[in-house]
Amino acid sequence: MVDSEKQTDNSKQITEISAVPNPGLVEFSQPILSKNRELLPLYQNSRLYSMLKAQKKSEGESAAIFTDIDDTAFLLSEPETTKILFDEAEQQNCPVIADTGNQIQVVERRIAEGELPYFQAICSSVGSQIWVLKQDGENLSYIPDLKYRKKVLATGFDRKEVVKSAWQEIVSKTASGQELKLQFQWPEDEQAFLNGEPYLENQEFKVSLQFEGDLFIAKNLKEQFAGIFPKFRVSVCQIKPLEGERALYYLDILAFDKADAIDYLVEELDIDSGIVAGDSGNDISMLSKSSDKIHSVLVGYPKPEALLAMEVIISQEGVAGRGSFRRVPTATGTKLFYIERNGRKGPHSVKRAVELLIRARAISRIKKNLALANNG
Ligand SMILES: [Mg+2]
Repeated sequence: MVDSEKQTDNSKQITEISAVPNPGLVEFSQPILSKNRELLPLYQNSRLYSMLKAQKKSEGESAAIFTDIDDTAFLLSEPETTKILFDEAEQQNCPVIADTGNQIQVVERRIAEGELPYFQAICSSVGSQIWVLKQDGENLSYIPDLKYRKKVLATGFDRKEVVKSAWQEIVSKTASGQELKLQFQWPEDEQAFLNGEPYLENQEFKVSLQFEGDLFIAKNLKEQFAGIFPKFRVSVCQIKPLEGERALYYLDILAFDKADAIDYLVEELDIDSGIVAGDSGNDISMLSKSSDKIHSVLVGYPKPEALLAMEVIISQEGVAGRGSFRRVPTATGTKLFYIERNGRKGPHSVKRAVELLIRARAISRIKKNLALANNG
């Protein structure tokens, strides 16, 4: 349950990482961005950008894998499969970008310990922050995307006000005798924060609560909090099953979430297509409402709230396709959804979905060439 870990011991490390100056080298004289927009210096000499550029050169378009970490890109029971996924992506020059509930210092520690490979970028704290991998000589470090931070700030997320409103809700729900055990994830820290102490590190745009209940209660509570905070994002995520139908859940109130982080990167880096993979409640937003260019993959053995949300989406009217991928109409077009049905776990599902899409891309290219030949 790494999502729940509160890490404050790495504060020194994070300060150093944040302080690494951007070398500002421009590796590519001709940015690949098709839109009339400057590439941020942060990305100019990143591996992330060079991989996208290499793909664009060889395939005519660029793709990326966005993925949740635990039980999606990484399985505690089969840690080696993450490396296989990364190696295959590397061969295709396809960057792998983490989109995780973990705080940046937790992911960095796991990478330093060898548990996880280096992601080309990390969307941390449920997508409320973005960090880009930069190489400076021998040193690899993650640098924060300050343009994204500016956008998050522009939502007007006043952490103190959010904590106060959430506190009122906790008090009223507790007084009404509901057996939710609704509480902040770190009650003492939130109390101290209201008393003028700084917020927890990397929690600037995130207020986290927890509760106990079943799937129905979880859905209701998510809707209630979304009603209280209409300008912000609310995610509910099962952490561990309890007796019967009950489970422990986290509820996050966020300025921006995992979907916002993906849409930002797709736009900033002019990414043409890709995959987003997840398994639990805080992945629902990125799976359901990130850019249509990015195909959604719900890996095997998902948490019940994520499976329910995805089943609702693919059973809507107008959904096409009977194979592995379903074509779901959206406000702006259609989005492809893959729900693992064959018992594959985490990275195996992601790999499978990538293979299917590569095959589809190859078939469509052959068809296009044939059409050209026939017309010619
Ligand atoms: Mg997960």
